[in-house]
Amino acid sequence: MKQYKRLIKALISPNVMVDSVLDINLEDYYTKGFRQIFLDIDNTVVGLTEATCNLDIEHWINTAKKVGFQVFIVSNNISWIRIYKVAKQMNLSGYYFAAKPLTFTGDFIHQKHQLDHQKTLVVGDQVLTDVIFGNWMGSYSILVDPIERKSNKIKKAQYKLENSLLKWVGLK
Ligand SMILES: [Mg+2]
Repeated sequence: MKQYKRLIKALISPNVMVDSVLDINLEDYYTKGFRQIFLDIDNTVVGLTEATCNLDIEHWINTAKKVGFQVFIVSNNISWIRIYKVAKQMNLSGYYFAAKPLTFTGDFIHQKHQLDHQKTLVVGDQVLTDVIFGNWMGSYSILVDPIERKSNKIKKAQYKLENSLLKWVGLK
């Protein structure tokens, strides 16, 4: 039982927690050897009630590209048009309906572009999808605070559950 607990803790613990993607120091991570970013969309770079990234986040993504990162959108959203809009705005490759925390979409991207899992930053706002997805692949997981926490009842309940999980692993 203890072993399971340790395994679960390892899966749900983000490597780092930040308030916003804007707090991620891109040059630092590049210097450390990271080369690509798998970026969640909803509530990570775009609020749930917004259609596109705001200027600050647009600037951050452009900086990431300038620094040398390959940035991929990996979203569980089933609306390809939503992902397409952001992908087009930011000139990125986008994958929708990714089924995170399952890793097949992530594995597919690594394979297609011949990328190293260990050089991947996985950035998202949810423990049960983004963080597990990143940890499971052996990548580096960064949990951001959701842009709109109180968007709807289901999301609210999800974040509450995730908060108690983070408390359980001693990160909150
Ligand atoms: Mg999200």
